[in-house]
Amino acid sequence: MTMDKRQNLIEVQGLKKYFTKKSGLLGNKVQYIKAVDDVTFHIKKGETLGLVGESGCGKSTTGRTLIKLYEPTGGKLLFDGEDITNYSEKQMLPFRKRMQMVFQDPYASLNSRMTINDIIGEAIETHHIASGKEKDERIHFLLEKVGLMRDHASRYPHEFSGGQRQRIGIARALAVEPEFIICDEPISALDVSIQAQVINMLEDLQNDMGLTYLFIAHDLSMVKHISNRIGVMYLGNLVEIGSSDEVNNHPAHPYTEALLSAVPLPDPNIARERKRIVLQGDVPSPLNPPSGCRFRTRCTKCMDICSEVTPTLKEIAPGHQVACHLYSK
Ligand code: SF4
Repeated sequence: MTMDKRQNLIEVQGLKKYFTKKSGLLGNKVQYIKAVDDVTFHIKKGETLGLVGESGCGKSTTGRTLIKLYEPTGGKLLFDGEDITNYSEKQMLPFRKRMQMVFQDPYASLNSRMTINDIIGEAIETHHIASGKEKDERIHFLLEKVGLMRDHASRYPHEFSGGQRQRIGIARALAVEPEFIICDEPISALDVSIQAQVINMLEDLQNDMGLTYLFIAHDLSMVKHISNRIGVMYLGNLVEIGSSDEVNNHPAHPYTEALLSAVPLPDPNIARERKRIVLQGDVPSPLNPPSGCRFRTRCTKCMDICSEVTPTLKEIAPGHQVACHLYSK
Protein backbone atom coordinates (compact mmCIF):
# COMPACT_ATOMS: atom_id res chain seq x y z
CA MET A 1 0.00 0.00 0.00
CA THR A 2 1.48 3.36 -1.05
CA MET A 3 1.41 6.22 1.40
CA ASP A 4 -0.94 9.08 0.43
CA LYS A 5 1.15 12.23 0.90
CA ARG A 6 -1.60 14.73 0.10
CA GLN A 7 -2.35 17.28 2.82
CA ASN A 8 -5.51 17.13 4.88
CA LEU A 9 -8.22 19.57 3.82
CA ILE A 10 -10.58 18.48 6.59
CA GLU A 11 -9.66 17.34 10.10
CA VAL A 12 -12.37 16.36 12.55
CA GLN A 13 -11.16 15.59 16.07
CA GLY A 14 -13.52 14.17 18.73
CA LEU A 15 -16.49 15.94 17.12
CA LYS A 16 -19.71 16.04 19.16
CA LYS A 17 -23.11 17.40 18.24
CA TYR A 18 -25.80 17.06 20.86
CA PHE A 19 -29.33 18.41 20.45
CA THR A 20 -31.44 19.15 23.52
CA LYS A 21 -34.96 17.89 24.08
CA LYS A 22 -37.19 19.20 26.83
CA SER A 23 -39.44 16.71 28.60
CA GLY A 24 -41.36 16.39 31.88
CA LEU A 25 -44.73 17.91 32.74
CA LEU A 26 -43.36 21.46 32.92
CA GLY A 27 -40.79 20.92 30.22
CA ASN A 28 -38.10 21.43 32.82
CA LYS A 29 -36.20 18.21 32.18
CA VAL A 30 -33.48 18.45 29.54
CA GLN A 31 -32.33 15.38 27.66
CA TYR A 32 -29.48 15.21 25.17
CA ILE A 33 -29.78 13.59 21.76
CA LYS A 34 -26.21 12.54 21.04
CA ALA A 35 -26.42 12.69 17.25
CA VAL A 36 -22.63 12.75 16.80
CA ASP A 37 -20.49 11.55 19.68
CA ASP A 38 -16.71 11.74 19.59
CA VAL A 39 -16.05 11.28 15.89
CA THR A 40 -12.52 11.63 14.46
CA PHE A 41 -11.43 11.48 10.81
CA HIS A 42 -9.67 13.46 8.11
CA ILE A 43 -10.15 14.01 4.39
CA LYS A 44 -7.15 14.68 2.18
CA LYS A 45 -7.16 17.25 -0.62
CA GLY A 46 -8.68 15.80 -3.78
CA GLU A 47 -9.96 12.74 -1.93
CA THR A 48 -13.49 11.36 -1.51
CA LEU A 49 -14.49 10.00 1.87
CA GLY A 50 -17.72 8.01 1.80
CA LEU A 51 -19.75 8.08 5.02
CA VAL A 52 -22.36 5.35 5.39
CA GLY A 53 -24.86 4.06 7.92
CA GLU A 54 -28.59 3.61 8.39
CA SER A 55 -30.81 6.64 8.62
CA GLY A 56 -30.45 8.32 12.03
CA CYS A 57 -26.82 7.22 12.50
CA GLY A 58 -25.54 10.81 12.50
CA LYS A 59 -23.82 10.96 9.10
CA SER A 60 -25.74 14.00 7.80
CA THR A 61 -25.37 15.78 11.15
CA THR A 62 -21.62 15.11 10.98
CA GLY A 63 -21.51 16.70 7.53
CA ARG A 64 -23.53 19.75 8.55
CA THR A 65 -21.52 20.22 11.73
CA LEU A 66 -18.16 20.00 10.04
CA ILE A 67 -19.05 22.94 7.78
CA LYS A 68 -20.65 24.69 10.76
CA LEU A 69 -24.23 24.73 9.54
CA TYR A 70 -24.65 23.35 13.09
CA GLU A 71 -22.47 24.59 15.94
CA PRO A 72 -20.41 21.73 17.37
CA THR A 73 -21.03 20.75 21.00
CA GLY A 74 -17.45 19.60 21.42
CA GLY A 75 -14.30 18.58 19.59
CA LYS A 76 -12.24 20.37 16.99
CA LEU A 77 -12.70 21.22 13.30
CA LEU A 78 -9.80 22.17 11.07
CA PHE A 79 -10.24 23.37 7.49
CA ASP A 80 -7.03 23.50 5.47
CA GLY A 81 -5.07 23.54 8.73
CA GLU A 82 -7.07 26.40 10.31
CA ASP A 83 -9.05 25.76 13.49
CA ILE A 84 -12.57 26.99 12.66
CA THR A 85 -14.32 25.33 15.62
CA ASN A 86 -15.25 28.52 17.40
CA TYR A 87 -15.41 30.87 14.41
CA SER A 88 -18.34 33.29 14.32
CA GLU A 89 -20.58 33.52 11.26
CA LYS A 90 -18.56 36.59 10.20
CA GLN A 91 -15.26 34.75 10.56
CA MET A 92 -16.75 31.86 8.59
CA LEU A 93 -17.63 34.05 5.56
CA PRO A 94 -14.39 33.43 3.60
CA PHE A 95 -14.75 29.71 4.32
CA ARG A 96 -18.39 29.53 3.16
CA LYS A 97 -17.22 30.04 -0.41
CA ARG A 98 -14.72 27.20 -0.07
CA MET A 99 -17.23 24.63 1.24
CA GLN A 100 -20.55 23.77 -0.38
CA MET A 101 -23.31 21.22 -0.03
CA VAL A 102 -25.39 19.21 -2.50
CA PHE A 103 -28.65 17.96 -1.01
CA GLN A 104 -30.63 14.75 -1.34
CA ASP A 105 -33.85 16.26 -2.63
CA PRO A 106 -32.91 18.45 -5.59
CA TYR A 107 -36.47 19.73 -5.95
CA ALA A 108 -36.86 20.90 -2.35
CA SER A 109 -33.46 22.58 -2.42
CA LEU A 110 -34.24 24.70 -5.51
CA ASN A 111 -36.59 27.68 -5.19
CA SER A 112 -39.49 26.85 -7.53
CA ARG A 113 -40.20 30.54 -8.25
CA MET A 114 -36.69 31.31 -9.46
CA THR A 115 -35.26 30.55 -12.90
CA ILE A 116 -32.10 28.46 -13.11
CA ASN A 117 -30.28 31.64 -14.11
CA ASP A 118 -31.37 33.31 -10.85
CA ILE A 119 -30.67 30.24 -8.70
CA ILE A 120 -27.07 29.87 -9.90
CA GLY A 121 -26.60 33.63 -10.31
CA GLU A 122 -27.61 34.29 -6.69
CA ALA A 123 -24.68 32.19 -5.42
CA ILE A 124 -22.29 33.97 -7.81
CA GLU A 125 -23.46 37.43 -6.71
CA THR A 126 -23.52 36.64 -2.98
CA HIS A 127 -19.83 35.80 -3.10
CA HIS A 128 -18.96 38.68 -5.50
CA ILE A 129 -17.54 36.30 -8.08
CA ALA A 130 -18.96 37.98 -11.19
CA SER A 131 -21.75 40.27 -12.37
CA GLY A 132 -23.52 41.27 -15.59
CA LYS A 133 -22.38 39.55 -18.76
CA GLU A 134 -19.53 37.78 -16.99
CA LYS A 135 -22.02 36.25 -14.56
CA ASP A 136 -24.22 35.02 -17.43
CA GLU A 137 -21.20 33.49 -19.14
CA ARG A 138 -20.29 31.73 -15.92
CA ILE A 139 -23.83 30.34 -15.55
CA HIS A 140 -23.73 28.99 -19.11
CA PHE A 141 -20.29 27.49 -18.51
CA LEU A 142 -21.52 25.76 -15.33
CA LEU A 143 -24.66 24.39 -17.00
CA GLU A 144 -22.56 22.87 -19.76
CA LYS A 145 -20.09 21.55 -17.20
CA VAL A 146 -22.89 19.50 -15.56
CA GLY A 147 -24.23 18.23 -18.89
CA LEU A 148 -27.09 20.72 -19.39
CA MET A 149 -27.56 23.38 -22.07
CA ARG A 150 -27.18 27.16 -21.82
CA ASP A 151 -30.83 27.52 -22.95
CA HIS A 152 -31.87 25.83 -19.72
CA ALA A 153 -30.92 28.98 -17.79
CA SER A 154 -34.29 30.65 -18.47
CA ARG A 155 -36.38 27.71 -17.25
CA TYR A 156 -37.84 26.86 -13.82
CA PRO A 157 -36.99 23.82 -11.66
CA HIS A 158 -40.33 22.02 -12.34
CA GLU A 159 -39.43 21.84 -16.05
CA PHE A 160 -36.60 19.39 -15.31
CA SER A 161 -36.35 15.70 -14.41
CA GLY A 162 -34.97 14.60 -11.01
CA GLY A 163 -31.54 13.86 -12.50
CA GLN A 164 -31.42 17.23 -14.25
CA ARG A 165 -32.45 19.02 -11.04
CA GLN A 166 -29.59 17.33 -9.20
CA ARG A 167 -27.25 18.56 -11.95
CA ILE A 168 -28.58 22.09 -11.34
CA GLY A 169 -27.92 21.67 -7.59
CA ILE A 170 -24.36 20.63 -8.41
CA ALA A 171 -23.91 23.60 -10.78
CA ARG A 172 -25.10 25.92 -7.99
CA ALA A 173 -22.57 24.39 -5.59
CA LEU A 174 -19.80 24.80 -8.18
CA ALA A 175 -20.77 28.42 -8.88
CA VAL A 176 -18.66 29.73 -6.00
CA GLU A 177 -15.55 27.73 -6.98
CA PRO A 178 -15.48 25.58 -3.83
CA GLU A 179 -12.69 23.22 -2.79
CA PHE A 180 -14.85 20.97 -0.65
CA ILE A 181 -18.36 19.64 -1.35
CA ILE A 182 -20.54 17.61 0.97
CA CYS A 183 -22.76 15.40 -1.16
CA ASP A 184 -25.57 14.45 1.21
CA GLU A 185 -27.32 11.42 -0.30
CA PRO A 186 -27.18 13.11 -3.74
CA ILE A 187 -28.38 10.07 -5.69
CA SER A 188 -30.75 8.38 -3.21
CA ALA A 189 -33.85 10.03 -4.70
CA LEU A 190 -32.87 9.30 -8.30
CA ASP A 191 -33.74 6.37 -10.59
CA VAL A 192 -31.07 3.66 -10.60
CA SER A 193 -30.42 4.36 -14.30
CA ILE A 194 -29.59 8.01 -13.50
CA GLN A 195 -27.51 7.33 -10.37
CA ALA A 196 -24.44 6.10 -12.27
CA GLN A 197 -24.56 9.17 -14.56
CA VAL A 198 -24.49 11.55 -11.60
CA ILE A 199 -21.69 9.59 -9.90
CA ASN A 200 -19.62 9.63 -13.12
CA MET A 201 -20.21 13.36 -13.48
CA LEU A 202 -19.11 14.02 -9.88
CA GLU A 203 -15.94 12.00 -10.54
CA ASP A 204 -15.20 13.94 -13.75
CA LEU A 205 -15.73 17.26 -11.95
CA GLN A 206 -13.41 16.14 -9.16
CA ASN A 207 -10.67 15.28 -11.65
CA ASP A 208 -11.14 18.54 -13.59
CA MET A 209 -11.40 20.87 -10.64
CA GLY A 210 -9.42 19.12 -7.90
CA LEU A 211 -12.47 18.90 -5.61
CA THR A 212 -12.59 17.13 -2.26
CA TYR A 213 -15.82 15.30 -1.36
CA LEU A 214 -17.57 13.95 1.68
CA PHE A 215 -20.08 11.59 0.09
CA ILE A 216 -22.89 10.60 2.46
CA ALA A 217 -25.12 7.58 1.71
CA HIS A 218 -27.13 4.95 3.58
CA ASP A 219 -25.97 2.19 1.29
CA LEU A 220 -22.41 0.91 0.81
CA SER A 221 -23.01 0.13 -2.86
CA MET A 222 -23.53 3.84 -3.54
CA VAL A 223 -20.21 4.95 -2.04
CA LYS A 224 -18.14 1.95 -3.09
CA HIS A 225 -17.05 3.24 -6.50
CA ILE A 226 -16.67 6.94 -5.85
CA SER A 227 -14.83 6.77 -2.49
CA ASN A 228 -11.10 6.51 -1.85
CA ARG A 229 -11.89 5.73 1.77
CA ILE A 230 -15.08 4.76 3.58
CA GLY A 231 -16.23 5.52 7.13
CA VAL A 232 -19.09 3.57 8.71
CA MET A 233 -21.25 5.25 11.35
CA TYR A 234 -23.62 3.71 13.85
CA LEU A 235 -25.69 5.68 16.34
CA GLY A 236 -23.41 8.72 16.42
CA ASN A 237 -20.13 6.78 16.47
CA LEU A 238 -17.63 6.03 13.71
CA VAL A 239 -17.20 2.26 13.98
CA GLU A 240 -14.89 1.55 11.04
CA ILE A 241 -12.81 3.52 8.56
CA GLY A 242 -10.35 2.49 5.88
CA SER A 243 -9.62 2.45 2.18
CA SER A 244 -12.58 1.55 -0.01
CA ASP A 245 -10.86 -1.73 -0.98
CA GLU A 246 -10.09 -2.67 2.63
CA VAL A 247 -13.59 -1.94 3.94
CA ASN A 248 -15.26 -3.71 1.01
CA ASN A 249 -12.97 -6.74 0.84
CA HIS A 250 -12.02 -7.14 4.51
CA PRO A 251 -14.84 -5.63 6.59
CA ALA A 252 -14.02 -5.98 10.28
CA HIS A 253 -16.92 -4.54 12.27
CA PRO A 254 -20.03 -6.77 12.53
CA TYR A 255 -22.16 -3.78 11.47
CA THR A 256 -20.09 -3.22 8.30
CA GLU A 257 -20.35 -6.95 7.54
CA ALA A 258 -24.13 -6.72 7.80
CA LEU A 259 -24.29 -3.62 5.57
CA LEU A 260 -22.07 -5.30 2.98
CA SER A 261 -24.08 -8.50 2.99
CA ALA A 262 -27.07 -6.44 1.78
CA VAL A 263 -25.24 -4.94 -1.21
CA PRO A 264 -26.62 -6.42 -4.47
CA LEU A 265 -24.06 -8.50 -6.40
CA PRO A 266 -24.03 -8.56 -10.22
CA ASP A 267 -23.03 -12.25 -10.40
CA PRO A 268 -26.08 -14.42 -9.48
CA ASN A 269 -23.86 -17.44 -8.61
CA ILE A 270 -21.82 -15.46 -6.06
CA ALA A 271 -25.00 -13.77 -4.80
CA ARG A 272 -26.64 -17.19 -4.18
CA GLU A 273 -23.70 -18.40 -2.11
CA ARG A 274 -23.39 -15.28 -0.02
CA LYS A 275 -24.81 -15.34 3.51
CA ARG A 276 -27.09 -12.39 4.12
CA ILE A 277 -26.81 -10.96 7.66
CA VAL A 278 -30.19 -9.53 8.61
CA LEU A 279 -29.93 -7.04 11.45
CA GLN A 280 -32.58 -7.55 14.09
CA GLY A 281 -34.51 -4.61 15.53
CA ASP A 282 -34.17 -0.90 14.88
CA VAL A 283 -31.37 1.54 15.65
CA PRO A 284 -31.81 2.42 19.38
CA SER A 285 -32.70 5.99 20.34
CA PRO A 286 -29.75 8.40 20.54
CA LEU A 287 -31.55 9.84 23.62
CA ASN A 288 -30.70 6.70 25.53
CA PRO A 289 -28.02 4.75 23.66
CA PRO A 290 -26.91 1.31 24.95
CA SER A 291 -23.97 1.29 27.38
CA GLY A 292 -20.56 0.14 26.11
CA CYS A 293 -20.74 -0.68 22.42
CA ARG A 294 -23.80 1.00 20.95
CA PHE A 295 -24.23 -1.81 18.42
CA ARG A 296 -24.40 -4.54 21.09
CA THR A 297 -28.22 -4.81 21.10
CA ARG A 298 -28.12 -5.95 17.46
CA CYS A 299 -24.76 -7.70 17.33
CA THR A 300 -24.66 -11.50 17.01
CA LYS A 301 -21.06 -11.55 18.32
CA CYS A 302 -21.77 -9.59 21.52
CA MET A 303 -19.62 -10.54 24.57
CA ASP A 304 -19.80 -9.57 28.28
CA ILE A 305 -17.30 -6.74 27.87
CA CYS A 306 -19.41 -5.14 25.13
CA SER A 307 -22.00 -3.76 27.59
CA GLU A 308 -19.35 -2.48 30.00
CA VAL A 309 -16.61 -0.86 27.93
CA THR A 310 -16.99 1.44 24.91
CA PRO A 311 -14.67 0.18 22.15
CA THR A 312 -12.38 2.79 20.56
CA LEU A 313 -10.93 2.81 17.04
CA LYS A 314 -7.87 0.54 16.71
CA GLU A 315 -5.74 0.12 13.62
CA ILE A 316 -5.96 -3.44 12.29
CA ALA A 317 -4.19 -2.83 8.96
CA PRO A 318 -2.44 0.27 7.56
CA GLY A 319 -5.08 3.02 7.52
CA HIS A 320 -7.87 0.59 8.48
CA GLN A 321 -9.38 1.21 11.93
CA VAL A 322 -12.24 -0.52 13.72
CA ALA A 323 -13.99 0.06 17.05
CA CYS A 324 -14.92 -3.43 18.26
CA HIS A 325 -13.79 -5.59 21.20
CA LEU A 326 -13.21 -8.49 18.82
CA TYR A 327 -10.05 -6.58 17.84
CA SER A 328 -9.12 -5.13 21.25
CA LYS A 329 -6.61 -7.81 22.25
FE1 SF4 B 1 -20.35 -6.64 18.63
FE2 SF4 B 1 -19.01 -6.34 20.90
FE3 SF4 B 1 -17.86 -5.68 18.60
FE4 SF4 B 1 -19.83 -4.22 19.58
S1 SF4 B 1 -17.81 -4.51 20.48
S2 SF4 B 1 -19.60 -4.86 17.50
S3 SF4 B 1 -21.11 -5.77 20.50
S4 SF4 B 1 -18.49 -7.73 19.25
